[in-house]
Amino acid sequence: MSAAITIIGTGLAGYTVARELRKLAPEVPLRLITSDDGTFYSKPMLSNAFASGKAPEQLAMKSAPKMAEELRADIRTASRVESIDRAAHVIEVGGERLAYRKLVLALGADPFTPGLSGEGAKDVLHVNDLTDYSLFRAASAGRRRLAILGAGLIGCEFANDLAGAGFEVTLLDPAAWPLSRLLPEVAGRFMRERLEALGVAFRFGTSATEVSPNGQGYLLQLSDGSTLEADLVLSAIGLRPRLGLAQAAGLLVSRGIVVDRFLQTSDPDIYALGDCAEVAGWVLPFVMPIMQAARALGPTLAGQPTALRYPAMPVLVKTPACPTVVAPPAPGMGGQWQVETSTDGVKALFVAEGGTLLGFALLGTATAERQSLAAQLPSWLE
Ligand code: FAD
Repeated sequence: MSAAITIIGTGLAGYTVARELRKLAPEVPLRLITSDDGTFYSKPMLSNAFASGKAPEQLAMKSAPKMAEELRADIRTASRVESIDRAAHVIEVGGERLAYRKLVLALGADPFTPGLSGEGAKDVLHVNDLTDYSLFRAASAGRRRLAILGAGLIGCEFANDLAGAGFEVTLLDPAAWPLSRLLPEVAGRFMRERLEALGVAFRFGTSATEVSPNGQGYLLQLSDGSTLEADLVLSAIGLRPRLGLAQAAGLLVSRGIVVDRFLQTSDPDIYALGDCAEVAGWVLPFVMPIMQAARALGPTLAGQPTALRYPAMPVLVKTPACPTVVAPPAPGMGGQWQVETSTDGVKALFVAEGGTLLGFALLGTATAERQSLAAQLPSWLE
């Protein structure tokens, strides 16, 4: 293969940009390289699959060979890219040097749990890909008491799913209510009540500092001086964009790999998107921003430079016990929450001083207004 357009990573970002490119450039040599097995799957389903008894194989949508056929691409699996030689336009993989024409970094992010000590800290589980999901399923066999660290979007989704699967779930968070970065307090209370009705216990205003082995399970030391016993600990706290490869190659990085509106890094032949990338100062590890980025980058790679647009991007929170849609205001936008509650729902609008709607959080029956309200929101990037 002559120097190919090369994409590192076969998650949503890598595969979607490959698809978008193929629509416009059916013949261009294309190569994808991944350290995993290249299975195409829907990552959001990982926090919604346990209660319905889904095995990892059931979440796998297409194998790497199938994707290679569909994309007419060379896909290398189980191959970690070790370095980028920018001057030579070459990447190094397992001792081999592969030439690239344009390079796309779709490397994703690593989950991490800051500030945790103790012998049991290494056993704290994360579910960030299909392999993690398999490991979690295996580790949870015969276990009952589950501590989840972090009551953000992913923590609440797992709490809902795993309580539904029969676990005794305790959700810990230093904030005072669930989804504290996305919901005003009243809405957070509504979510809390719905999850409590399902059997989820909350410990707010505290976080785990130490995890020690305790019989068959663990003892968690919490920052408020209390303790919690659990058979299993799942962390849903932090995500760190994978920057090492870009950093070692001398590309500009900040919180993520820094790219411009064309998804171009500080090297004009290298692009980045997805959980590893930072656009306009934002790292947005969600499906919609990735789809938008891929729709811009596909044409750009095909020779039609296309700037990224971010419309307002509501996120569906997959907590069936409390249907929720959040459309946070763009960072830095000033405004105030206006909240209406009923017994079955909460409608919270984030409104600027002049009355412009900047964001919303809709819970329960109020989610019915999602589409009409989303249509009124300003774009994040025009
Ligand atoms: P990844 O899918 O992590 O892909 C990274 C790829 O890079 C992998 O193939 C990896 O093998 C490869 N790679 C990394 N380094 C190297 C290397 N050096 N060499 C070769 N290959 C390498 N978002 C929503 O909008 N809505 C939701 O409901 C939602 N739910 C979620 C639920 C869970 C449990 C999780 C974890 C996330 C959820 N998200 C959700 C977020 C969304 O799924 C992610 O933002 C998205 O899937 C990230 O895709 P990605 O391609 O950037 O990264």
